[in-house]
Amino acid sequence: MTLTPDESAAIDAAGRMAIAFRDGLGARTVPPALRPDAIAGRFAGALPQGGASAASVIEQLAAEATEGVHGHASPRFFGYVCGGSMPVGVAAETLVSAWGQNSASSWESPAVAAIEEAVCRWCLDLLGLPADSGVGIVTGATIANTQGIMTARHVLLARQGWDVEADGLFGAPEFPVLIGADAHSAPLAGLRYAGLGSKRVVQVGTDDQGRISLAALAESLDRCTTPPLVILQAGQINTGAFDPFAEAIALVHATGGWVHVDGAFGLWLKAAPSLRDRLAGVEDADSWAVDLHKMLSAPFDAGLCIVRDRPALVESMTARGAYLPSLSANWDPSDTTLELSRRARGVASYAILRHLGRQGVEDLMTRLCTLAEHVAARLAAEPGLDVLNDVVSNQVIVALASDDLTDAALAEVQRRGHVYPSHGEWRGRKVIRMSVTNYGTQIADVDLLADEIILAARGLA
Ligand SMILES: *Cc1c(COP(=O)(O)O)cnc(C)c1O
Repeated sequence: MTLTPDESAAIDAAGRMAIAFRDGLGARTVPPALRPDAIAGRFAGALPQGGASAASVIEQLAAEATEGVHGHASPRFFGYVCGGSMPVGVAAETLVSAWGQNSASSWESPAVAAIEEAVCRWCLDLLGLPADSGVGIVTGATIANTQGIMTARHVLLARQGWDVEADGLFGAPEFPVLIGADAHSAPLAGLRYAGLGSKRVVQVGTDDQGRISLAALAESLDRCTTPPLVILQAGQINTGAFDPFAEAIALVHATGGWVHVDGAFGLWLKAAPSLRDRLAGVEDADSWAVDLHKMLSAPFDAGLCIVRDRPALVESMTARGAYLPSLSANWDPSDTTLELSRRARGVASYAILRHLGRQGVEDLMTRLCTLAEHVAARLAAEPGLDVLNDVVSNQVIVALASDDLTDAALAEVQRRGHVYPSHGEWRGRKVIRMSVTNYGTQIADVDLLADEIILAARGLA
């Protein structure tokens, strides 16, 4: 069965327009020209009775959407913590869609299973984590955290003689959950999804960079009567800081507890020898969540849930019921994820890793952190601007003399649209938050970022 000329034209048009969009990113403002209310009208009509040619649908879609597409893929986008959707990954995604694989099992899609297994093996190696860990390729760090938490729940309850998969949580024995007071909202969402509640969690005190306090952790652990789940963080969303892993993990393991690490972006620093000491000991944890669509610039949506005890991850996730190793000697993607039918979302990361090589990944992580240091140094040298964090990864936060001035400066920078940092709050002060996470960002881009913030701040003085 061959494609119709119209179908071929549609796929061709998508490729052409993808190239035009990415080529055009440098010449346009980073934020979209049209905001939600302005663009919504274009898509507000009822579904027409009759269809349209495939090519015309694609041409029209691109024409109508582009002004409402944010420049997240731009090397001058510094908001939130995003990635850059590296073109080699985008190209691989096109193949994934064309292949139309249900990537649940190695039997159904042998090539995808083998490719994704390579991604898992390569990432464990790059991240310095145990080679025989279980890995699920999931949609992002929120689900990766959720899966890690669900696996911890499985193990901690099994040790108390409770089979949570069979018997649920009603009437189950309890275990405490401890988390740093400056954790991201994603692991808290994971606790909700896992039935552990976000309110019964013990929040452990942190220092001025948001790192968990060892004294406070020891005190909270002393109060635990059963082994707890403790959630640590590699990369605080504002400061980019790392918890003191070696000491904290040793304290938790002495109680028989489970350590899960939210390393959505920060865990990638392990891939660079010059940076990895900042996370020393993180490899001793029991489970980790990390994104592929942030520091590695994989197209959205891709992340990894990594669990040292692979059978525990499979027992918690598999849709086959109880884990029976004899079911398949092969590596089946759906055994380690919440999904059954699933997109082959690891393939784009395979292409990116193969494109960069080990050296390229190391260079990328080093460059992102060096550029963050550079922009922080430029901003710190400007009177009236306070850089509020010790820059230890790729995150920088800066404040003006008052919240009103900070808000006004950020609004002006975003209005001009040459660069795009976003907002945040740290220790009661509003901040301009910058995340250097795009594969394409170079020194000229962060210099422009510093120039724009300084210009806006001077304009308000
Ligand atoms: C982005 C982020 C998350 C959530 O990850 P998603 O990929 O958006 O689901 C969790 N924790 C941290 C520290 C993050 O930066």
